[in-house]
Amino acid sequence: MTFPVRCRCGTLEGTLANPQRAARAACYCRDCQAYARFLGKPELTLDAKGGTDIVATRPDFLTFTRGADQLRCVSLSDKGLLRWYADCCNTPIGNTPRDAKFPYVGLVHDCLAGSDSERDAAFGPARTALNTGSASGEVKAPRLPLVLGILRIMRNVFSAKLSGAYRRNPFFDVQAGTPVATPRILTEDERKTFGANVAKS
Ligand SMILES: [Zn+2]
Ligand SMILES: [Zn+2]
Repeated sequence: MTFPVRCRCGTLEGTLANPQRAARAACYCRDCQAYARFLGKPELTLDAKGGTDIVATRPDFLTFTRGADQLRCVSLSDKGLLRWYADCCNTPIGNTPRDAKFPYVGLVHDCLAGSDSERDAAFGPARTALNTGSASGEVKAPRLPLVLGILRIMRNVFSAKLSGAYRRNPFFDVQAGTPVATPRILTEDERKTFGANVAKS
């Protein structure tokens, strides 16, 4: 089973394998909010309380079938996550660590091409909430789904490492250890404009 992946304009397309292996969470951190503002359409990405619906999975489960040359990445600081987007229409794609050998991607819902109910059916509803301190309202963050989500992510990371599958990663040349697009690091002023954490993260 696969789930379709697509930027808003359709130039970038792909598939996500094994959707049932993903861990889903809403992240309310200021940096996810800043990433959405940087891309210009935060109202499409953020929920009413500033949360981003994220599907965490293994990069090798993701295949871009066309438009991969549109991938760009931005980072809110020189040590922050790489935050990927499609240059054609500024659709957020997902977050990866900077370490090419760490097999993790948190896909942003905007690029998961399905209705809310199709996403719920494929990934399960988002029961986990992260960084709720910076939500613009009260958000429940139950612990059990959080722990289960962390275990799922750990299982994905270890299985990709053990099998060698981590070497296939559409965001990196894993051999060389370099991202497929040069990260654009936001300036101090840009960080302020987009409301990122002032302390670097
Ligand atoms: Zn596009
Ligand atoms: Zn976040």
